[in-house]
Amino acid sequence: MAYFIDVILPLPLQKRFTYSITKAEAEFLEEGMRVAVPFGKSKVYTAIVGKIHQNPPQVYEAKPINQILDKSPLVTAYQLKFWKWIASYYMCAEGDVLKAALPGAFLLESESIVQLIKDAEVDENQLKDEEFLVIEALQRQSSVKIQEVMKILDKKAVLPVINALVEKGLVVLNQEIYEQYKPKKIRFVKLNPVYDNEAEMHRLLDDLEKAPKQKEALLSFFSIKAQHKKPLKVKDLSEKSGVSAAIIKNLITKKILEEYYEKTDRVTFTGDASESGIQLSEIQQKAFSEIEAGFKELDVCLFHGITSSGKTEIYIKLIEKVINQGQQALYVLPEIALTTQLIERLRAYFGDKVLVYHSKYSVNERVEVYRHILEDSAKARIVIGARSSIFLPFSNLGLVVVDEEHETSFKQFDPAPRYHARDAAVVLANFFKAKTILGSATPSLESYFNAQHHKYALVELNRRYGDVLEPEIEIVDIKTKYKKKEMKGHFSDRMLAEIKDTLNAGEQVILFQNRRGFSPVLECNTCGHSPQCPNCDVSLTYHSHNNQLRCHYCGYHIAMQKKCMACDSSEITTKGFGTEQIETELKAIFSEYKTARMDQDTTRGKYAYEKLINSFEQQEIDILIGTQMLTKGLDFRKVNLVGIMNADNLLNFPDFRAHERSFQLMLQVAGRAGRTKKRGKVLIQSYNPHHQIIQQVSMGDYAGMYKDQLEERYNYKYPPFHRLIRITLKCRDFSKTNDAADWLAVGMKNVFKENVLGPEFPPVARIRNEYYKNILLKIPQQQSLGKTKEVLQRIMRSFNAIGAFRSVKVVINVDPI
Ligand code: ADP
Ligand code: ZN
Ligand code: ZN
Repeated sequence: MAYFIDVILPLPLQKRFTYSITKAEAEFLEEGMRVAVPFGKSKVYTAIVGKIHQNPPQVYEAKPINQILDKSPLVTAYQLKFWKWIASYYMCAEGDVLKAALPGAFLLESESIVQLIKDAEVDENQLKDEEFLVIEALQRQSSVKIQEVMKILDKKAVLPVINALVEKGLVVLNQEIYEQYKPKKIRFVKLNPVYDNEAEMHRLLDDLEKAPKQKEALLSFFSIKAQHKKPLKVKDLSEKSGVSAAIIKNLITKKILEEYYEKTDRVTFTGDASESGIQLSEIQQKAFSEIEAGFKELDVCLFHGITSSGKTEIYIKLIEKVINQGQQALYVLPEIALTTQLIERLRAYFGDKVLVYHSKYSVNERVEVYRHILEDSAKARIVIGARSSIFLPFSNLGLVVVDEEHETSFKQFDPAPRYHARDAAVVLANFFKAKTILGSATPSLESYFNAQHHKYALVELNRRYGDVLEPEIEIVDIKTKYKKKEMKGHFSDRMLAEIKDTLNAGEQVILFQNRRGFSPVLECNTCGHSPQCPNCDVSLTYHSHNNQLRCHYCGYHIAMQKKCMACDSSEITTKGFGTEQIETELKAIFSEYKTARMDQDTTRGKYAYEKLINSFEQQEIDILIGTQMLTKGLDFRKVNLVGIMNADNLLNFPDFRAHERSFQLMLQVAGRAGRTKKRGKVLIQSYNPHHQIIQQVSMGDYAGMYKDQLEERYNYKYPPFHRLIRITLKCRDFSKTNDAADWLAVGMKNVFKENVLGPEFPPVARIRNEYYKNILLKIPQQQSLGKTKEVLQRIMRSFNAIGAFRSVKVVINVDPI
């Protein structure tokens, strides 16, 4: 009897591959285990066993496997089923899903590079002989390839040795090593409230006559506090007053001043959760009960709660219930919203039952998290993670929370699988008969539509926690302001007045400008030329801090030009404006305050994002200017003013979702204002103040926005009424791109008729010297999705058979965003 396995290789192959195994191997192997297999001429890959059977492949001779890498399955039956669903729904290879689903360290291949972990403690007695040889080699050279390890150990079957070293935490593969970010704690001082009373204060100052240095320090403290109402750092007090740290220490010991840490304060602020448990307010409790009632009827509940209504607390209560029943809970949120803030809040409540799965974590940490979940260990009760956490090996899932469900970053754009984590999470939960809660202050039209049609339960929460009022929104008509000369740079007089008031009160400001850089476009007044990227069809963007013109698509850059590159005229003007320009203007007006920028340029480095958030929290920054990064569920306590510099460039984006997205973005940034006690203020500057979306934002009118947008979607045949599949062709050869797109469009139109749109060049038709062309397929509700995809696959097979189109890459995107 011959035995075979079908395996999934980490490659974009349309089919599984079959290998032969011995009887003994067949008895040992289980589905979901890893095997090392030869592939192609000389490569070795780690593959996952999908099926064990006795049918030899028809068109090729099955090769034997190299070896078995696991003692028990690494991938569960649920995962294999889920991968299959993702591959078929999103029209990609199972191998693509495999690569997205497993931490890279599980997927050794012959080209993998092995490195010793810095500071790893090597206990030679704990090492087997072969492991020792590898470590010894690594102590001499910084890295070795797996192929070299084969030479060192003089055998082919080296993967188990490497695996053992990975699991012992001594080596890493193909990866950078990250450290974990720890927010620094800053020491502040405040006056002991006993002395808030005048008589006590006089007595104190008299007492201090004998300690002139201490008195001097105290007086400095008062004068600094009179100028700035912000919390005062011990460091600043000693610098500004010239008093030594020792004297300040004395004042603290005497209980005249009190020291405190902003960080610890935060945790107590969120309700002393770890001790007393969270007390839901009456309306929170009502929402909670409605969600539970909804779950009795339906598996998915859309939770529409305005910003700062305390959705997180309600998730926590739902999670608690599920884990008390011995099940696991998954909390998915957009990568950028996965902040230390939130992790701390959950850890404060659930302690070490919370695991975090994050792309910034090292491979070893990810391997560890994966193992804990696979073993359903005590630490793996709650997993909080970004979109790829839906691929973890749950066995016992009871609840999935998808927070900020409207976020478009849940959809993976590149590479395949181009999945939408929210939609996939609903399917995943379904496998486990678990419940899913989708939460947002501004739900996606799709989800709200599902709720309106009773596919999802719907729960709404319209009050902020602690009865804080929603921010007051004021619209500033900058067209008129420019006419009346009431603008200073890009700031209206209203905006400047409000910023001033806010800063004077010791509070913070957030300014939103959805464009980075200084001035997006440089234009010659004489001939109209603007410098273009040579690799992409876009104009270069001016960045003042390094005086460069940059391409935001490929990174190409040149020095800022003094003269027009076409006609040599020196009359060049800048058009439009970005975050950098806002910052420059602000610095000139509010020179005594500290400003910072949060955009792709300032958050590139390791933990740069966390550091910015941290120093904004600590009030080291007074005004934060940012792009849409600012909108992601951040909870700052001292922000009282949010300014939207220009609403129009959001609204004019050429996309059928532009209006929905502008509404969501504006309402989300607005939600950063006034989250604690005082009512916040939001100013929206626009040339078009009567635009229906701006009006709807100002009234928080989600229902109105939903109704209008839905009508448009219906009229123009867009989701949720029609489903979309977008096919993108790209190639370095312009005419080949056109020919291939035409061929494919004709083939599709033969079948799908007028529901095929294009081919069309996208707004940026060339990126990194590749030409792009799109074809859009609209699928009416009554048309079978499965059949449609089958037909499309068939057309693709014919397309792939045409030699002339070999060099054309085709990307299929199901439910594009
Ligand atoms: P959302 O996610 O809906 O925007 P959050 O969950 O961040 O709102 O809550 C807003 C603020 O109110 C947070 O600082 C949170 O700690 C606080 N809060 C909400 N509910 C409670 C509660 N029941 N007890 C104590 N604090 C709460
Ligand atoms: Zn010119
Ligand atoms: Zn470019």
